[in-house]
Amino acid sequence: MNFVIPAHPVASVEISGTDERFPVRRIYCIGRNYLAHRVEMGNDDRKPPFFFQKPADALVASGGEFPYPPQSDNVHHEIELVIAIGKGGKDIAVEDALDHVYGYALGIDMTRRDQQSKAKADGKPWEAAKGFDHSAPIAPIRPVSEIGHPDAGRIWLAVNGEIRQDSDLNLQIWNVQEGISHLSKLFEVMPGDLIYTGTPDGVGPIVAGDVMTGGIDGIGEIEITVV
Ligand code: MN
Repeated sequence: MNFVIPAHPVASVEISGTDERFPVRRIYCIGRNYLAHRVEMGNDDRKPPFFFQKPADALVASGGEFPYPPQSDNVHHEIELVIAIGKGGKDIAVEDALDHVYGYALGIDMTRRDQQSKAKADGKPWEAAKGFDHSAPIAPIRPVSEIGHPDAGRIWLAVNGEIRQDSDLNLQIWNVQEGISHLSKLFEVMPGDLIYTGTPDGVGPIVAGDVMTGGIDGIGEIEITVV
């Protein structure tokens, strides 16, 4: 291939405990997937899930740094279960959806909350709020062959050791199967896609110098320093 500028590297995520990597194609995120978080954001309806994207090169590996982004002074953490898609498809039935999963990780959907509020008020898209550089910290992926399909387990995030988010995967409004099925009716899901599946309540701001730690029982932990 004769690229006219140097081709950029494929974004990827470590497979836990190996030197293998998961090549990332697209990052989808589900909005409002835990009732308590919907309520804290001022929504208490039960509408179908909706989706937004982050660019694949927004990923930050656990142990890395999250540079506080410009054009915001209210940046929030959102700890989330992340699905790694191994097999593509469209119009995937709920009962077939788990066959499409390679593995699971946990990630932090970093959010410029002030930009998001402004976008909501103006009826504008969320790119600046959600899809900014370094906005997708992620822990190493655990394959389904090792851990199966977790449908319950503690999900938590702490800032400087103080617990801010503390919930359970079984409180998701749309579970893994339903999330994949809904997404695949809008987009052809592709191998390499990641899906951040929404955050529980307790979101809040971080500042430079903070250390975010988080985990999901049975999947792993993450540590990211805000710089
Ligand atoms: Mn989120």
